[in-house]
Amino acid sequence: MRKKLLWLSIILGICLMAGFAQAGGPNVAVVLVDVQADFTTAHKGSLAVADSDQPYLDKVTQATKELRKKGLQVFATQDWHPKDHMSFAANHQGKKPFQAIKLADGRTQVLWPTHCVQNSSGSAIVIETSLIDQVVQKGKDPSYDSYSGFKDDGGKVTELKDLLKKQGVETIIVYGIATDYCVRATVVDGLTAGFKVVVVQDLCRGVAPDTSKKAWQEMEQKGALIWESLDPEKVKGL
Ligand SMILES: [Zn+2]
Repeated sequence: MRKKLLWLSIILGICLMAGFAQAGGPNVAVVLVDVQADFTTAHKGSLAVADSDQPYLDKVTQATKELRKKGLQVFATQDWHPKDHMSFAANHQGKKPFQAIKLADGRTQVLWPTHCVQNSSGSAIVIETSLIDQVVQKGKDPSYDSYSGFKDDGGKVTELKDLLKKQGVETIIVYGIATDYCVRATVVDGLTAGFKVVVVQDLCRGVAPDTSKKAWQEMEQKGALIWESLDPEKVKGL
């Protein structure tokens, strides 16, 4: 009888622990990518992507609130360029935004309108900052672009991976701007760093439809889980 009770309490304990683990505890975190004024039509940004209007920002805010309510920490990346950044077309004589150039080391660089200059209003994160636990800035080195929140094109890492690992995070839920550049690169590097990665499609906005389509295919092929929209209940199963 006593043995039976012991087994019963062990089984009950395991069930409780399993239930607790399913509650979307600290091992799941949000990585919000570059939700900044310059990338949104809502703020008439210099590099505003399609459909990045106020209703989009409201949707991102609402989703982030719901995930915080579930106990998830929110890490936000922020494009943070010096004025002389190499990705700005204005810093290359005779070049125009969206033109691609070959760099000395053979890589291709897309040139952009001047955007997210450090401390400018365009660089501001445009959802309530009280929803964000940690901001990770990227693209600070004038010589390298940095689409990824984890590292720049020269291979220099940001603090994002260490911050996540220190918190015991194993799964990241990623959304933001832009699907085909910074979201894609952050997702791919997140997978490489060993995180399980979920990307929420309708909380992302892309620069162009063809490159965004390719980015969704690549992210899925590399192992990311693509959710059409956010269902906070599904977070329990991660
Ligand atoms: Zn940039």
